[in-house]
Amino acid sequence: MNTSRPIEIIGGGLAGLSLGLALRRAGVDVNITEAGSYPRHRVCGEFITGLPGSTRTALGLDALLADAVVNRQVAWFAAGEPAWFQALPSPALSLSRYVLDARLAEAFVAAGGELRSQTRSAAHADAPGRVFATGRRRARSPWIGLKLHAIALPLAADLEVHLGASCYVGLARIESGRANICGLFRRAALTGHAGELLLAYLRHTGLNALATRLAAAELDSASFSAVAAVEFDRRIAPTPQARLGDACAVIPPFTGHGMAMAFQSAEIALAPLLAYARGHAAWPATRRVIQSELRRRFRVRLTSAAALHPFLLEPPRQRWFARLGRARLLPFGPLYHLLH
Ligand SMILES: Cc1cc2nc3c(=O)[nH]c(=O)nc-3n(C[C@H](O)[C@H](O)[C@H](O)COP(=O)(O)OP(=O)(O)OC[C@H]3O[C@@H](n4cnc5c(N)ncnc54)[C@H](O)[C@@H]3O)c2cc1C
Repeated sequence: MNTSRPIEIIGGGLAGLSLGLALRRAGVDVNITEAGSYPRHRVCGEFITGLPGSTRTALGLDALLADAVVNRQVAWFAAGEPAWFQALPSPALSLSRYVLDARLAEAFVAAGGELRSQTRSAAHADAPGRVFATGRRRARSPWIGLKLHAIALPLAADLEVHLGASCYVGLARIESGRANICGLFRRAALTGHAGELLLAYLRHTGLNALATRLAAAELDSASFSAVAAVEFDRRIAPTPQARLGDACAVIPPFTGHGMAMAFQSAEIALAPLLAYARGHAAWPATRRVIQSELRRRFRVRLTSAAALHPFLLEPPRQRWFARLGRARLLPFGPLYHLLH
């Protein structure tokens, strides 16, 4: 069934592709413009927490995530030493972006969607039916994100989190026996290619034991990616465009919620966009409904994550965090639920 009003999505990451797929499966004409190509490695911990089953079902993601690794336990490391273990209140999934984004793109095209990859859209203004899922906005920022895969690297738990000087690094099991290594660091004048740059950052931030462990591991340099200009939003600012995923707000990566929020924002936008596509709603009202629902659903999560982030990044607060964690005094359950 074709509808009279098409939807144009700019950005073929998780938010754009999952929305496009769900709209297409509902019979809407959808085109997606994506600056990059598939498959591609992305800077991401590839650790999905807080993705409700209802979102997976609404967007038709179950089959695409069926073989994701299920994670249940976290090992925290502070000052280079194992500090404490913790069970996740609900299981998290991990799957590389190399696989996930390509699967979504393939499913979207198979459902009849039009995907123009390697095409950067110059559009910035709102237009009826136009959705921006363009990811993080560029910002001046002191942070750099680095990611790399290791092959057959044994981990102390499903996820290891290492706290270093103004940085944290996660190691998570992903598919094919690989591990994702991803860190957020304060930028420094360090150079090196792929794994060498990551090791330089680990040593610079006091994570020497981890650097030594990784130096002895088999690292896949082709999977290396880096992103500077990482900034985090506390709130969803009113914008004159329909924006989803990171284009709407960026949550600090330690939460492992960025991907879930990208999917959830697509789910939130789905019903209003279907109503618009079927001629039951005008575009300005559709845009407003999406934005106010995004704000309602994500406000507490963004504010809580912004308040907690310094406890993972700033050495004096990290010490308190580690002390409370070792003593099992961290209210992890309530904190976890605040972030959902
Ligand atoms: C260091 C780091 C670690 C992270 N770790 C995790 C984690 O473990 N778990 C988690 O859930 N989240 C994590 N995240 C966050 C997660 O990666 C993002 O929240 C998620 O990718 C957002 O999806 P998106 O679809 O909104 O944006 P993206 O996935 O960034 O997709 C946006 C797409 O838009 C395209 N684009 C941009 N502009 C244009 C244009 N003009 N024309 C055409 N295409 C365009 C881009 O090429 C891109 O493909 C991490 C982020 C960082 C920085």
